[in-house]
Amino acid sequence: MAGLSLQCGDCGTLLKSVEEAQEHAELTSHSNFAESTEAVLNLICSSCGKPCRSKTESDLHTKRTGHTEFVDRTLEAAKPISLEVPKASADSEEDVVAGESSQTEGDI
Ligand SMILES: [Zn+2]
Ligand SMILES: [Zn+2]
Repeated sequence: MAGLSLQCGDCGTLLKSVEEAQEHAELTSHSNFAESTEAVLNLICSSCGKPCRSKTESDLHTKRTGHTEFVDRTLEAAKPISLEVPKASADSEEDVVAGESSQTEGDI
């Protein structure tokens, strides 16, 4: 089965994409990511639409706002993770015409 997320081996956080994992690595200097078949939790608050990615987060949201109803969109949002690292734009840049003689006839 294809993985649905990347799990940080250092703190257990689930990341939805390689990009998120990279961001997490930068923020925390954690670096042990493994593919996980567990989908990242996606609870949407019915009152305000805030997405929560963990039970802790939704609990906190409930405490802060009094909103108690969450719609579980975990499976809808879960997509097989692509482990391909997004390339830093390899767009074929148009050849810049350099070295074109820009000598101007002197109008002395
Ligand atoms: Zn971590
Ligand atoms: Zn809310």
